[in-house]
Amino acid sequence: MRIDIATLFPEMVETVLDTSIIGRARKTEAFEVHTHQIRDFAFNKHRRVDDSPYGGGRGMVMQCEPIFCCYEHVKAQIGTAPYVIYMSPKGKVFTQQKAQTLSQIPNIFILCGHYEGVDERVLEEIVNEEISIGDYVLTGGELPACVVTDTILRMVQGVLPEDVCFEEESCYSGLLEYPHYSKPEVWHDKKVPDVLMSGHHANIKKWRTEMSIEITKSRRPDLFLAFQTKK
Ligand code: SAM
Repeated sequence: MRIDIATLFPEMVETVLDTSIIGRARKTEAFEVHTHQIRDFAFNKHRRVDDSPYGGGRGMVMQCEPIFCCYEHVKAQIGTAPYVIYMSPKGKVFTQQKAQTLSQIPNIFILCGHYEGVDERVLEEIVNEEISIGDYVLTGGELPACVVTDTILRMVQGVLPEDVCFEEESCYSGLLEYPHYSKPEVWHDKKVPDVLMSGHHANIKKWRTEMSIEITKSRRPDLFLAFQTKK
């Protein structure tokens, strides 16, 4: 799988995706991530990529042509049209299920907006889907792109030691995860639940499932309802 990220701040994305598990996996051949400076595709004197909005109003709008040229450059490089995602608060809210679907797509191009956003015409021309990471507004699409990329890539084979590492986590099954404990056995008078010290695998599994249900019911009744409907 290959993910190309078009941004005005590639160093921000590189820093995040070069760190920890994804950073290490990036050095293997499990997947490829490339960042592209949109400004490199602004063929004007000052490498300008934005201008004021028609109709008036505050802020600047990212212009069509540099974004389109960046997209065309990536398309030529990979020899096919990638699936294009525009990170946007107007998009559909990102979920684990969406990440799972996207992890099956071989070539993804993520466009990060900045300032007031992006000229609608280039979105109409190249974008397959707009994705939001939540109902709030960030200054740019870089952190959302990192969130989406990280979530997709940790499901790619070879990134985590086993598929079970993500399959048993919150959201994957539709439930939130059970609580974890590690050494010491007692900390600040709080003892690890007896069942986890019992070595009885069936009982541990049963306890964890019960905890998952309880936590999902109390913290996210919406998820619990969806889980029950799905069953
Ligand atoms: N004027 C836009 C609006 O009201 O919808 C917001 C623009 S925002 C300041 C700049 C850029 O940040 C957007 O173009 C988008 O790429 C990104 N962004 C901000 N919030 C986001 C979110 N919740 N999810 C995904 N991307 C977001």
